[in-house]
Amino acid sequence: MRIQAAVLRELGQAFEIEELELAPPKANEVLVRTVASGICHSDYSVVHGVLRSPLPVVLGHEGAGIIEEVGPGVTHLKPGDKVIASLTPSCGQCTMCKELKPFMCSQMGKLLTDCTQLDGTTRHKTLGGEDVYALCGVGSFGSHMVMPAGSAIKVPEDTPLETTCLIGCGVTTGTGAALNTANVQPGEATAVIGCGGVGLSIIQGCRIGGATIIIAIDPMEEKRDLAMDMGATHTINPFEEDPIARVKEITGGIGVHYAFEALGRVETMEQTWGMIRPTGTAVIVGVASLDQSVKIPAAGLLAEYEIQGSCYGSSTPKKDIPRFVELYKSGELKLDEMITQRIELKEINRAFDEMGRGEGARSVIMY
Ligand SMILES: [Zn+2]
Ligand SMILES: [Zn+2]
Repeated sequence: MRIQAAVLRELGQAFEIEELELAPPKANEVLVRTVASGICHSDYSVVHGVLRSPLPVVLGHEGAGIIEEVGPGVTHLKPGDKVIASLTPSCGQCTMCKELKPFMCSQMGKLLTDCTQLDGTTRHKTLGGEDVYALCGVGSFGSHMVMPAGSAIKVPEDTPLETTCLIGCGVTTGTGAALNTANVQPGEATAVIGCGGVGLSIIQGCRIGGATIIIAIDPMEEKRDLAMDMGATHTINPFEEDPIARVKEITGGIGVHYAFEALGRVETMEQTWGMIRPTGTAVIVGVASLDQSVKIPAAGLLAEYEIQGSCYGSSTPKKDIPRFVELYKSGELKLDEMITQRIELKEINRAFDEMGRGEGARSVIMY
């Protein structure tokens, strides 16, 4: 079928809106009509070469839509089902899936770095017949997506996809980091560095978990204000105050139980170590360039400091995505407030320019 998609042909360049040919789903794949897609910072990282992807590619992985067709062997989904795309295909066969850690599914790399389907081939082609890759095997910057059936998570019929699409990546990554990876408990103290879509989701997870101190750290006033709306109890402008000293001050000199990093910068990852109390944990959610190293002073180890990575919110998508949808419906998880603007696909380059300037929390493309 013919679809409309934003295609990245060269790193650092603008997207071109093109017609592509999308092949039907093969075994254990589904065809989804895209309803909405968030624009995630990881998409931006691919455009700028921080995360690698073959070219040309259809980016976009925070997508939600309606199943139009299922490939052979797909029995848990049918045309008309509403689905949110997850980052992991949850293959169910690999060692990590068998250990009930689908957020570490061994097949994920194929989707994230090869940008193909699980069989190593692509479903998108240019009208001239050239292969086009799709980020995460999803490609939600296109009017239709083919994805592994395990990546498509069914949600109830009354789920508003134009908002809950954010759960596909940013919200699950952030809220899951607080509720699953850290498992924040009532009364605990937390700090969050970076208040974009993921950071705001961490803040919400801390609030839902019952944290009584939630310190939001971001240089942009607009994002600090949003952080307060999402449940932060204190904010810090790191350009005006020393964030470590201020976190210590707010917590009576001892530091927080959990300090989260949601920027993907080595300097701020190292800062988290200075913010935690004895036995506290630095939770690294942001993704740095993979060739960089994080240095931490050994002294903290005597105080049983821990450092913990967090990938995709340590989530089990089949359980957590419907759970976050329910938290949204009950009003506990705020998503509408995180959406700065809704745009058409043809406006995507403007939204990426704004992201480059650090403006807004989330843009959502509506199809
Ligand atoms: Zn697996
Ligand atoms: Zn993402």
